[in-house]
Amino acid sequence: MIIRKLVVGPLQENCYIIGDEKTKEALIIDPGDEPDRIIEAVKKEGLNVTSIICTHGHFDHMGAIGDIKRETGARVLVHKEEMELYEAAKDQAALWGYSVDDIPPPGGFINEADEIKVGSLLFKVLYTPGHSPGGICLYGEGVVFTGDTLFHGSVGRTDFYGGNISKLKESFRRLMSLPENTRVYSGHGDETTIGTEKKENAFTEEFMSN
Ligand SMILES: [Zn+2]
Ligand SMILES: [Zn+2]
Repeated sequence: MIIRKLVVGPLQENCYIIGDEKTKEALIIDPGDEPDRIIEAVKKEGLNVTSIICTHGHFDHMGAIGDIKRETGARVLVHKEEMELYEAAKDQAALWGYSVDDIPPPGGFINEADEIKVGSLLFKVLYTPGHSPGGICLYGEGVVFTGDTLFHGSVGRTDFYGGNISKLKESFRRLMSLPENTRVYSGHGDETTIGTEKKENAFTEEFMSN
């Protein structure tokens, strides 16, 4: 499995390119900005991108969706509960003082337990609301991509529109139930593992108690 991480944009968002080494099929998670760098990385690996997964509808995760879609023809997938934020992402960026290109509508919705195939790789959608209403994680092949639900040492904010602390707590518990050696790739910051976060995350004690 090929996993390339690119830190993009002013909010230092992690965009991931995941590819099957044999078939060269690939998906991109959260192309937030700097489409040229993302496309260059895709070409360097000789990958054929078939899906763009949007973990949630914050603009720092979405700014390059239009360009990547145009360049690759890949379909954009997002959870239905996230559509209000998805459609507001451009305005939201403007409020923060940034500008992003028009974001095309998604090509389909992803739901809890949906399977995403990338060549011979198989990932499952985990519905993990809390940071936003329709946030998802993608789990499979010993790794989990957690968007802004879980970071190394922390969790996503719940004070944005649609955030919900009790849902985030539930989503956090769910992620902590994955095998401890699962590698965690977050929307911001460094790679970690579920086991490390169980021990070291600043929210573990509060979120895992009743
Ligand atoms: Zn976010
Ligand atoms: Zn973010």
